[in-house]
Amino acid sequence: MFSKVKSIVLNGLDGNLVEIQTDIENGIPEFEIVGLPDASVREAKKRIEAAIKNSKMEFLNKKILINLAPANIRKEGSCLDLAMAIGILIANRYITNLDTNELVNTIFLGELSLDGKINRINGILPMCIEAKNLGIKTVILPNANVNEAAVISDLNIIPVNNLIEVKKYLNKEIEIYSYQSKEIIFSRNDNIDFAEVKGQENVKRALEIAAAGGHNCLMIGCPGAGKTMMAKRLVSILLDLTIEEAMEITKIHSISGELKNDGLMTNRPFRMPHHTIPISTIIGGGRIPKPGEISLAHLGILFLDELTEFSRNILESLREPIENKEVVINRLNGNYRFPCNFMFVASMNPCPCGYYGDEEKECKCSEQEIHRYMNKISGPLLDRIDIQVEVKRPELRKIKSKEKPETSMQIRERVNVARDIQLQRYKKYGIYSNSELTTKMISEFCNLDVQSEELLQNAFKKLKLSVRAYEKILKVSRTIADLEEKDNIEFKHVAEAIQYRSIDKFIK
Ligand SMILES: [Zn+2]
Repeated sequence: MFSKVKSIVLNGLDGNLVEIQTDIENGIPEFEIVGLPDASVREAKKRIEAAIKNSKMEFLNKKILINLAPANIRKEGSCLDLAMAIGILIANRYITNLDTNELVNTIFLGELSLDGKINRINGILPMCIEAKNLGIKTVILPNANVNEAAVISDLNIIPVNNLIEVKKYLNKEIEIYSYQSKEIIFSRNDNIDFAEVKGQENVKRALEIAAAGGHNCLMIGCPGAGKTMMAKRLVSILLDLTIEEAMEITKIHSISGELKNDGLMTNRPFRMPHHTIPISTIIGGGRIPKPGEISLAHLGILFLDELTEFSRNILESLREPIENKEVVINRLNGNYRFPCNFMFVASMNPCPCGYYGDEEKECKCSEQEIHRYMNKISGPLLDRIDIQVEVKRPELRKIKSKEKPETSMQIRERVNVARDIQLQRYKKYGIYSNSELTTKMISEFCNLDVQSEELLQNAFKKLKLSVRAYEKILKVSRTIADLEEKDNIEFKHVAEAIQYRSIDKFIK
């Protein structure tokens, strides 16, 4: 008695086809799983046995051998439970009315409960994407995962609740209708909009430039100035997601179990990890590595509130991922890669007491204390931030004003124009935005006239700007010019960009 059924396991973000070969023979009762299963797969034996018994079927006291092929890829987690149980039921002749052709084109995904129920699993979307790539026609999966799978068209998706149902379905005793893939509607989350932010024009402007050029950004201001509130709204002025991008971020959230029943994610993520969370939660990790906050922020925003509260370790560990836009997690059994191309946004107080430069409250810190405080942020991390902007508490008259601030949609239209210009300009260079310009590209695309060059040189001396600030000012000037649809960087663009280096003077 022998059977073959198919399933898929994940390795990082990618799916791999697994064939479950089941052989049942008479002999001393034994149940063995071979083919590089990890501990969680070996535990499946108990679940499968209980689930079959509790579904009113006999778990024969025979010699059961399951081989998971190919043997060279590791199999983790409980997603193979259903496939292995079906393999046993077929080999045991509980399922006889089978169309073999159909079986070859079907994959089974799902974790079993002891009572035979089929539980939702993480990573359904990347698994179904792989199934489609392999030419599989039908996917039998947990009912609770159905919305996530329905994102993919041209797959016959059969949602199931328990083992008996699957048995009856395969025996053609019942019919289960295939779940129709849904039309994808890209709707924006309109609950957060810059129209709700009165005053703060300079900050909104800085965030518009950041969004337009993909620049990482640091907001410095006293408590209660509205830094977090504005950072959250930054998502509302970023470009719409393309379908490919939406798939990519949904895959990551699917693997980490962050998706509820929502199907495709159509908004760019905004992640705001607390400074107390462990480094592995931020970078990614675990025995079977899962994406961390930096990957959950992929194609969206990673916001670190109160930057100076984060441990030096965490801040240091962010440098490489920010640079490489990908994180590699090493494990004994191989390397796991997760993308993490996010915009980095952070906020901090201007000094230990929080009120340096405030118009109402007096700052009690000495200059030395302020220096020490600022130096908590690592220089190399600061190197990756193009825009620094001071956030003051909004004036009362601005809050009370009846004037309607611009909506996020109005701002986004300008951002879109500037982004399009960059896409065209950098088509041949493999980059998408001004923030990605290399030193060589800067000398090609960020030329200044004599007057602007002079201004920059003067600023350099007077503001004691660091060498690293020089290139950043040029990149940001390029974005400001793009927002105005100007081919050349002008004096006023450079003048504005210089303002976005407000804390350089504190960092030594
Ligand atoms: Zn202070």
